[in-house]
Amino acid sequence: MALIVQKFGGSSVANADRVRNVARIITETYRKGHNVVVVLSAQGDTTDDLIEKAKELNPHASKREMDMLLATGEQISISLCAMAIEAMGYQVVSLTGWQAGMHTDAAHSNARIKRIQTERIQTELDKKKIVLVAGFQGINQYGDITTLGRGGSDTSAVALAAALHADLCQIYTDVDGVYTADPRNVTGARKLEEITFDEMLELASLGAQVLHNRSVEMAKRYNVNLEVLSSFTGNPGTKVKEVVKSMEKTHVSGVAKDKDVARIALIGLADEPGIAFKIFSLLAKHKINVDIILQSIGRDSSKDISFTVARGDAEEAKRILEENQQYIGFQSVELSTHVAKVSIVGAGMINNPGVACKMFEALSSASININMISTSEIKVSVLVDERDADRAVQAIHDRFFSEFGGNN
Ligand code: ADP
Ligand code: ASP
Ligand code: MG
Repeated sequence: MALIVQKFGGSSVANADRVRNVARIITETYRKGHNVVVVLSAQGDTTDDLIEKAKELNPHASKREMDMLLATGEQISISLCAMAIEAMGYQVVSLTGWQAGMHTDAAHSNARIKRIQTERIQTELDKKKIVLVAGFQGINQYGDITTLGRGGSDTSAVALAAALHADLCQIYTDVDGVYTADPRNVTGARKLEEITFDEMLELASLGAQVLHNRSVEMAKRYNVNLEVLSSFTGNPGTKVKEVVKSMEKTHVSGVAKDKDVARIALIGLADEPGIAFKIFSLLAKHKINVDIILQSIGRDSSKDISFTVARGDAEEAKRILEENQQYIGFQSVELSTHVAKVSIVGAGMINNPGVACKMFEALSSASININMISTSEIKVSVLVDERDADRAVQAIHDRFFSEFGGNN
C-alpha cells in the first residue's frame, strides 16, 4: 500500500464528464489499496473568468479580495468531484487549503507555503477516505485566504506530497507529459520519458507552463517522486527526477518560449564605475526582478545598458528610471514590450561548445534577428521580436530534434 498524491489541472475537470473521468482515475487508484490525496485546480477557464468579473467592478481590486475570489474556483472543483466520487459509492472528503493545513506567508496573489499541518488529512486517511484538497490556496498568519500564483496547484500538490512523505506525486494534465517543446505549438515535439529536476526547473522558469516552476524547486528539495501524465489517454508520462538514465545522450532536452518579457534600454550613460549599481539597486529596492542584462562597450566616454523585466513590471521600472534620470545620468530610456524570450535547455550543453552556435544558425537560416543573448551552464536564451517567437521556436526545435536536421 502506497500514499499517492494526484493533481488534476483545469482542463481535466472542465465539465461534468471530465470530473467523472477524474473520479474514475482516483477511485481506480484507491481500489488498488492505496491512500489517495488529490489536489484539484479550478474548472477550465474559471480563474480567468473570475479575474474578468473582478475587473468589471474594480480594475484595481486589492490582492486580498482577489485571493478571496479566485480561491472559490478550486472549491467548486473539489466539492463537485467529491459528489461524483460519493455517487460511485466511495468515502471521500473535500478540504479547502485552510482545512488541509496549508499555511503560507502573507504575500497575497503570490504566497509561499511555509508549512503544512497534515493532521486533518491524516485523520481522514486513517478513516479510509479519499481526500480532495483545493489547490492554489492557503491561509496566512492573519487567517486570510492566500493564493500561490497562477498555475500554483502544481505547487500545492508537490508540497503535500513532500509533507505527507508520499510515495508518488502524479501531475495529470491535458498533454501526455513533458515534451521537447509545447506540443500544441511546435510540430514534431517529442515526449520525454524522463527529465532532471534542474532541466525541468529551467524549462518551467523559461515559459513551459506544464509545471509551475516552484513545484519543481520543491520536488527537487524534498526529492519527491514526480510524474507528469495525461488524464485523457492513459499513456505513460514523463518522470521528473534528480538523475536520468539518458543524461549523457542529448545536449538539449527542450525549447521554451516566454512572452512575459519587456526590454528597457538606457541610452547615453557615463562610462564610469558605479552606474550599473545605481540602476539595479534602484530596481531591486522596488522589488523589480531583472533578467538578461547587456552593456555596450564604452565609446567617447558613453555607454548603453539594456535589460529585460517581466511585462507587468515594465511601466513601473521605466517610471522609476525616469524619476532618477539626474541621479543615474542618461540621455534617454526606451521601453519595448513587443519582445519574447526563446530558450534551449539541457544539462549536457556545458561540455558541448557547439550548442549555442547551432541555435544561432537555426535563427540565422530563418532570418530572425537576435536582440539579446544570455547563457548559463544549462541554458541559452535569446530575445527576439514577439512576432518571430513561434517561428524561432520551430526553427530551433527542427535544428535540434528533427529526424534529418537534428543530431542532438
Ligand atoms: P493544467 O491546467 O493541467 O495545469 P497547463 O495549461 O497549466 O495545464 O499546462 C499544460 C500545458 O502546458 C499544455 O497544454 C501545453 O500546451 C503547455 N506546454 C508548454 N510547454 C510544454 C512542454 N514542454 N511540454 C508539455 N506541455 C507544454
Ligand atoms: N486555478 C489557478 C490558475 O488558473 C491555479 C492552477 O490552475 O494551478 O492559475
Ligand atoms: Mg498548470
